[in-house]
Amino acid sequence: MEFSTATLNRALELARRGEGHTRPNPPVGAMLFTARGKCIGEGYHHRAGENHAEVEAIADRQRRFPKCRPDTLLVTLEPCSKPGRVGACTDAIIRSGIKHVTYLCTDPNPKNRNRARRVLAACGISCDHLPCIEAEELIKPFAKRVKTGLPYVTVKLAMTLDGKFADNWGDGKWISSEESRVVTGRLRERVDAIMVGAETVRKDDPSLLSHGKPNPDLVRVVVSRSGKLPKKAQVFADGQNQTLVFDDPRVALTELGKAGFNHVLCEGGAGLATSLVEQGLVDEWLTVLCPKVIGNRHIRDAALLGAGKLKDLHICLRA
Ligand SMILES: [Zn+2]
Repeated sequence: MEFSTATLNRALELARRGEGHTRPNPPVGAMLFTARGKCIGEGYHHRAGENHAEVEAIADRQRRFPKCRPDTLLVTLEPCSKPGRVGACTDAIIRSGIKHVTYLCTDPNPKNRNRARRVLAACGISCDHLPCIEAEELIKPFAKRVKTGLPYVTVKLAMTLDGKFADNWGDGKWISSEESRVVTGRLRERVDAIMVGAETVRKDDPSLLSHGKPNPDLVRVVVSRSGKLPKKAQVFADGQNQTLVFDDPRVALTELGKAGFNHVLCEGGAGLATSLVEQGLVDEWLTVLCPKVIGNRHIRDAALLGAGKLKDLHICLRA
């Protein structure tokens, strides 16, 4: 069966709904079709311990189109073929009467790669791997942790045109615009943990939570050599998400990797970001370049270029 770009995008969109909630699993989306190409089921993996996307799509078909016969399953990641916290998806596929499976990327664990194909073929179900860059992107954090034991690390820092991260008083929060805060908010919704250095907690006192929908699965991480942190800081006192404290960034990432965290976002400060780069722990760097110039002034008096007409520029580099 041929899939349109719109169909592939729909499957990816379903998968993205799970981002930030599925650790230690990756986000996955699935769609089920009749032999004539009618979509009769959709699903995604909501969180670990719950149904995988394939099982959700099969259940959706049973609810909405009980009389339609399922023929082809499209799934953003190769189905699992070994039981974990839930049964193997290949078993559910075999039971459902599906004839054909197309997956957009293979299992990043070399031991399982293309295992689903062999298991399903033994039961007369054909499999296709339709390579898709967006689907690979989606499981990149999971793939890194499976291969290295460490989470995928994105560093995000806001900077002025004259290269200042923060002023002499460390007021970094005055740098980004409202629009940038929206972009950061979305990024925060996609990750498993947000990490900052002790200075950021002392000077900026951020909540590190998304301004949008609350994500109870998000964990906040503070790296502090001394461990001397203000108890009144929002990350400890707001009674919201869990906050972990580590004395070293590598130890923090190693422990988070062991606990199944796939994607960690570091929001500064510059000292912690530098330390992560020096140790080769950064996978992706996002600089938000703000159209402001501080010079030697206080950041609150920063001069705005273009009288507010210019927007922040988001530059993303991948290691
Ligand atoms: Zn599965």
